Amino acid sequence: QPTQAATESYTIGTDVTFPPFEFANKQNQYVGIDIDLMNAIAKQQGFKVTIKPLGFNAAVQALEAGQIDGVIAGMSITPERQEKFAMSDPYYQSGTVMAVAKDAKIKGLSGLRGKRVAVKTGTASADYANAQKKKYGFSVVTFDDSNNMYQDVMTGNSAACFEDKPVMQYGIASGMKLKIVGKTTMKSDYGIAIKRSESATLLKKVNAGLKALKANGQYDKIVRKYLGNGS
Ligand code: GLN
Repeated sequence: QPTQAATESYTIGTDVTFPPFEFANKQNQYVGIDIDLMNAIAKQQGFKVTIKPLGFNAAVQALEAGQIDGVIAGMSITPERQEKFAMSDPYYQSGTVMAVAKDAKIKGLSGLRGKRVAVKTGTASADYANAQKKKYGFSVVTFDDSNNMYQDVMTGNSAACFEDKPVMQYGIASGMKLKIVGKTTMKSDYGIAIKRSESATLLKKVNAGLKALKANGQYDKIVRKYLGNGS
């Protein structure tokens, strides 16, 4: 066998808290579908990876500035992001939902007139809320992470938040005092964002790894580990 070149090493940014995709467990270790998936891709493709929980917007900014090589953070594949970054093949279907306090009477967007809505900086859901605020007459307040956004709704400061459906469902199933109202919008797939200059290298490995893990059942195993058989 020929001598292998030195193992490539990449830094990937992620969100601080976005369960079941990335979150700190009781031992304060970062776990989740994205974390396991990224590590499995690296192992399958033979490269080293360091995952940094920077926060969603901060991770995207760091990638744009070329400080990191990629982002895995339940990141929706959008045309704007495809222009800035090399987006991997899709790995999970998602969309945006509206959530309100468990005992709230609001049933949808039309219940938001004159009220305040919480969103997370730089997300597709924030774009959605900002696009609807004029029509439905609500104001928007931004948070850097999902927990603070949920808190603002649970304490009654905000009437609603907009969040990714699988994340909101997981949070509610874990006991968060919120409920989903209305329809799912902004349907999109999650992809791994890669630095454009790594299109011929890291992007190819990521897509090849994803494909292999989907084919050999490891992808399903990772998703089942966090979501059980129901999802
Ligand atoms: N899927 C959403 C987006 O890409 C939210 C991602 C996140 O909050 N980590 O904008």
